[in-house]
Amino acid sequence: MERVLTDGIIYKISKYADNSAIASAYTLDYGKIKLFMPKAYSSKGGVQTFILGEIDFLKKDSSDLNKFYNFRPDTSYIEYPSTPAISLRLSLYFDIFDKFYELEQEDRVIWTILQKYKTAEYSKINLFSIYALLKNTGHMFNFSECSSCGEKIIEQGALYNGLYYCQKCAPAESFFTTGYVNTMLRAFANQELYRNLKVNIYDELSVLDLFVYHIESITGNFLKSYKLFKELILTI
Ligand SMILES: [Zn+2]
Repeated sequence: MERVLTDGIIYKISKYADNSAIASAYTLDYGKIKLFMPKAYSSKGGVQTFILGEIDFLKKDSSDLNKFYNFRPDTSYIEYPSTPAISLRLSLYFDIFDKFYELEQEDRVIWTILQKYKTAEYSKINLFSIYALLKNTGHMFNFSECSSCGEKIIEQGALYNGLYYCQKCAPAESFFTTGYVNTMLRAFANQELYRNLKVNIYDELSVLDLFVYHIESITGNFLKSYKLFKELILTI
């Protein structure tokens, strides 16, 4: 056991008993961790979620549940929890993260991506973050060519059972994309295209529909947070 300090973000706090709680966090040095908070609901007003900061905890060798000591939010990210356009996206992102990452599975790229919401291109960074998550966990489908005939897919594609098809080969029950979706997918894999990419909220939802369809077919579960995200994101 050792007491450690790492950069991180707490994305979920579940009440446990009386005054205690169990929190889930992403950390730069240890990936996904679980924290036991003995006094989560003290008079100080509790621990903030969806803001970057430093997590101080006792890392247990014998258990997956580490003991939480303290969280110091980095005040330069103060707009994250207070801006619904950011917190809604982070909430969706971490719901997906939670399903795909094992405890202590390392991914330091996430930390860099999380800092980029400051640039205010929320739609673009949101799509890129989920694309990177799928890619880094080995779940991103090959969107550049048809998995049946091998033809290059420039515009519309269709996804079925984790495989991407051209419109001619796609099974009827596939998820069919709009044309611009493939332009955006290509840009995620190419720095130069990415730099010039413009994404509005409707573009964002078109790609998210595809990603969520894919995520639901991999996990076999309905992604509840996305339904809520769609309802709220257009009203804020
Ligand atoms: Zn084809």
